[in-house]
Amino acid sequence: MLSKNAVTVLERRYLKKDAAGQPTEKPDDLFKRVAQAIAEADKEFNIDADVKATQDVFYDMMSRLKFMPNSPTLMNAGRPLGQLSACFVLPVSDSMEDIFDALKNAALIHKSGGGTGFSFSRLRPAGAAVNSTGGVASGPISFMKVFNAATEAVKQGGTRRGANMGILRIDHPDIMDFIQCKKNTAEITNFNISVGITEEFMKAVHEKREYALVDPHDKKECGRLYAPAVFDLIVKMAWTNGEPGIVFLDRINRDNPVPSLGEVESTNPCGEQPLLPFESCNLGSINLDAMLIRKGGGYELDYEEFERTIRHAVHFLDNVITVNNYPLDEIREMTLSTRKIGLGLMGFADILYKLKIPYNSDEAIELAEKVMKFLRDTARDASNELAKERGTFPTYSESVFKSKGIVQRNATVTTIAPTGTISIICGASSGIEPIFGLSYIRNVMDNDELLEIHPYFEEVMKERGLYSKELMSRIAQEGTIAHIEEIPQDIRDIFVTAHDITPEYHVRMQAAFQKYTDNAVSKTVNFPREATQDDVRTVYELAYELGLKGVTIYRDGSRDAQVLNIGKVN
Ligand code: UDP
Repeated sequence: MLSKNAVTVLERRYLKKDAAGQPTEKPDDLFKRVAQAIAEADKEFNIDADVKATQDVFYDMMSRLKFMPNSPTLMNAGRPLGQLSACFVLPVSDSMEDIFDALKNAALIHKSGGGTGFSFSRLRPAGAAVNSTGGVASGPISFMKVFNAATEAVKQGGTRRGANMGILRIDHPDIMDFIQCKKNTAEITNFNISVGITEEFMKAVHEKREYALVDPHDKKECGRLYAPAVFDLIVKMAWTNGEPGIVFLDRINRDNPVPSLGEVESTNPCGEQPLLPFESCNLGSINLDAMLIRKGGGYELDYEEFERTIRHAVHFLDNVITVNNYPLDEIREMTLSTRKIGLGLMGFADILYKLKIPYNSDEAIELAEKVMKFLRDTARDASNELAKERGTFPTYSESVFKSKGIVQRNATVTTIAPTGTISIICGASSGIEPIFGLSYIRNVMDNDELLEIHPYFEEVMKERGLYSKELMSRIAQEGTIAHIEEIPQDIRDIFVTAHDITPEYHVRMQAAFQKYTDNAVSKTVNFPREATQDDVRTVYELAYELGLKGVTIYRDGSRDAQVLNIGKVN
């Protein structure tokens, strides 16, 4: 059932290996190892639990590619490292000790396959006084470069590429430098950067006025900037090479389920998981394509199977929190206090093809809302069931759920992850993204390249007698079939790819999923190469209006090394 690409990925980094680097387990052994290690947690709550039965259920979900936990769980469960989470946020306070503690902790997390997010907003700005030395501070960006260099070094020996998110609040005095710190795309390459946007800032942009910069030390105003000009600079830089992204910090904090624990100041590297300082989260995704059944001549989503899978997945992810080996005491304490999990989806674009619904249609948006509402409601119900058996998360009495009378085991249950690697393992389209190209070359891990033709597209083309190698190459070159006249219109309408979809539809799709997601949604809004800065501005405004927690845009061809390249066929 595993594709050749899936086996390649698993062999390279996920399977146990001997000293000579030869795999000592097969993919099936991996699923058994993970199922067994995660099912063990049942015993913590019930000494008589039928662990074997749980193990079989978990094994079945993974081996049939219905559900996959995030990569660190696949790599490390049932092995000595035992670190199972993909997402961490570490605090960076304004002292040398704290900055370098954060650096060391990040290195340990990267080594185990986790990604780290940081807010650098508490660091004093460049040029500020340093009392103990009489010198001047070098500021957040210079420290980000240190974190970046450390990540680069750890990358060599770790299980996968360490990834970081760096956030700076819009009212930090160094904000203008931060917005431009990745202008040179060869710098700070191990960071995604996002500007932390406040409601006050957006108001100032709309009212075309100045807003206050705040000294992180004494919280006093220390300067003013004209908001529309700052917004324009963010837009210009994002248009230039895709960075910075933006995150709406106040909006994220409005959804903070336990406000008494503090403020959320950062997300994980890909932006889908806002977390409190020292909090971690483990993610898992259901492969929607495996939830389809044949009906008549077509396909239909099997909601009974979907419901069962969601319930088992919540059980699985809650167990992960229990058996996880945390890299730091502070992280264990914070994570156990909220027990956040992030269940999401992959294969959304695949099922749209099979259901004959164009991604860029209102019908697709409606389906997105329906599917995600079902997932969230069922996952909450499953978390409620677990709470009856195992108890609520320890800070429940301080949480927003308590006041609403909703009993939960987990402070959050849903997140839409990018599923960069696990979607390859499942042979599914990643997360909620449209298909990037119906045939293309994918660069995976370092410099390896894999050729892919979308399997269902291939099937349909063969069925209709339209398949030829020449045509597939042409499609790979063009990246879209929209203008290929020998392909019938009905196929061209349904098999749309990222480039056929307007940025507005990308944002609307992200918003449809965000509506029913506790955490956030990983999504890139793709622009054609010829898009203007105004186009980018319009999308940022729309994202704000539609209630997104953040946006990442990418204009085709604006960065040298793209992960996915159209027109590169071996
Ligand atoms: N991540 C990371 N390094 C990577 C890819 C991912 O640290 O090379 C972390 C990061 O926090 C990201 C999260 O894993 O936001 C989820 O990414 P994804 O869904 O692509 O991971 P997968 O489980 O598919 O490997």
